[in-house]
Amino acid sequence: MEAPASSSSSVHIQIAPEPDPAPSSSNGRVRVRIAPSPTGPLHIGTARTALFNWLFARQHGGMFVLRVEDTDKARSKKEYEKALLEGLSWLGLDWDEGPTLARDGTLGPDKGPYGPYRQSERTAIYRTYLEHLLTKGEAYYCYCTKEDLEAQRQAMLDAGLAPRYNGHCRTLMAPPPGREPQVIRFKVPHDTVTFTDMIHGKATFDAALFGDQVIAKDLDTPLYNFAVVVDDALMEITHVIRGDDHFSNTPKQILLQRALGFPTPHYAHLPLILNPDRSKMSKRFADVALANYRDRGYLPEAIVNFIGLLGWHPKEDHEMFDRAFALAHFDIGRVQKTGAIFNEEKLDWLNREHMRAMPLAALAAKARPFFRAAGIASAAPSSGSDDDDSMLERAVALQRGRAHTLVEIATASAFLFVSPAYDASLLCWKDSSRDDARTALEDARTALEALPSDAFASRDEILNALTPAIDARGRGAVLWPLRVALSGQRTSPDPMEIMEVLRKDESLARIKSAIGKLA
Ligand code: GLU
Repeated sequence: MEAPASSSSSVHIQIAPEPDPAPSSSNGRVRVRIAPSPTGPLHIGTARTALFNWLFARQHGGMFVLRVEDTDKARSKKEYEKALLEGLSWLGLDWDEGPTLARDGTLGPDKGPYGPYRQSERTAIYRTYLEHLLTKGEAYYCYCTKEDLEAQRQAMLDAGLAPRYNGHCRTLMAPPPGREPQVIRFKVPHDTVTFTDMIHGKATFDAALFGDQVIAKDLDTPLYNFAVVVDDALMEITHVIRGDDHFSNTPKQILLQRALGFPTPHYAHLPLILNPDRSKMSKRFADVALANYRDRGYLPEAIVNFIGLLGWHPKEDHEMFDRAFALAHFDIGRVQKTGAIFNEEKLDWLNREHMRAMPLAALAAKARPFFRAAGIASAAPSSGSDDDDSMLERAVALQRGRAHTLVEIATASAFLFVSPAYDASLLCWKDSSRDDARTALEDARTALEALPSDAFASRDEILNALTPAIDARGRGAVLWPLRVALSGQRTSPDPMEIMEVLRKDESLARIKSAIGKLA
């Protein structure tokens, strides 16, 4: 697949967007598409493009099409295609047409009447349109070799011109003897191309500066700009919403649409996603693969919220929102023109807020695989006195306000499920003695033993039971050894909160074991 061209110096962008005439598909409905190339893991930027298309389609009662741009045979892989479909499904960005994923996770049949939806299965279609342009004389075989092109380039640079194809083969009457065709080029008309981008406003390009573009390596190997034009037209795409990296491809695609007699869709180019230092975020950057965030325990709700803020924000700076809110408030016309900064701290914050907002049982169910991955095999209490689910839910309830991710919830919860190992000296508060620690724990144990089991569901009741010991000995002298006995840690939630999770039997078993260490 041809790399998107770098931006052209011939573009002028006006600030105020001007609306184009109403778009139309044959049934008058909005049709948008996401057209990823399965040449790597699903990137967070592709997910953002998918979300904005999905929102636009759903807001307009339109259709959201998934087209897999897999013409780069060497780099396209089925595993990436599958990951792409899984990633979009995980985010809840359901598509109306395109390849499908079967229940067992394998690739299923296409759905929708405009298929096939994989470019690799559309070669015959592209061939027809390539032949059409060749027959009309609007495309031609180019015989220039790499060496010829390099010599042309050098000559143009020497003459102080911006290098472009010099049109050598444009007017050939017959193939040069002994030469093989190298590529097929489009006879780019020396027109001015103007379009009104829904985000950037009106842009004008001087196509005379483009040079004749390569549109295919041969009849069976079209390049990106050609295949995309044919597909967008045949799939009746009304609005092309994609990344700014394709902005300079748009005039080239419009010229091809004109040559092929296709309508021009509306365009919206989304701002680039930038690293916090404002450098461009690479598509190949494995860290920003969506699956990486999923595996680190971010919720799809938080990711949707986060990517929704990459270039757009609701009025009144309402930053935490769900899908329904985004559907009600998203406005493509208010997407910013300048680069969107990718700020992982904001993602952490959003993930915590979404974890807090989620019903506890649902969050615990999402957390369970992360507990298993953290080596908490059963996610069951070590005393075995409570059932798995309520123990898991209590642990999640304890940690969710503190942790940023499900991984953090699980790792921070490990001590609740496995009796902690620690050195007895850690039980001693400041410079107090082992005897002080032991007697404080014995007092606490007596008070807690007297408390009925169901009172352990309440932090306040646990604290009330401990209050006489705290009053007599001091807060730190009681709560420090208790914290260590219960958690084996210096820093942890407070001991009452831990006991609320562990409940009576397990709490007393741990206190007893600590007393044993001090004996
Ligand atoms: N396959 C292109 C990409 O992944 C899609 C470009 C487009 O949306 O036109 O960047």
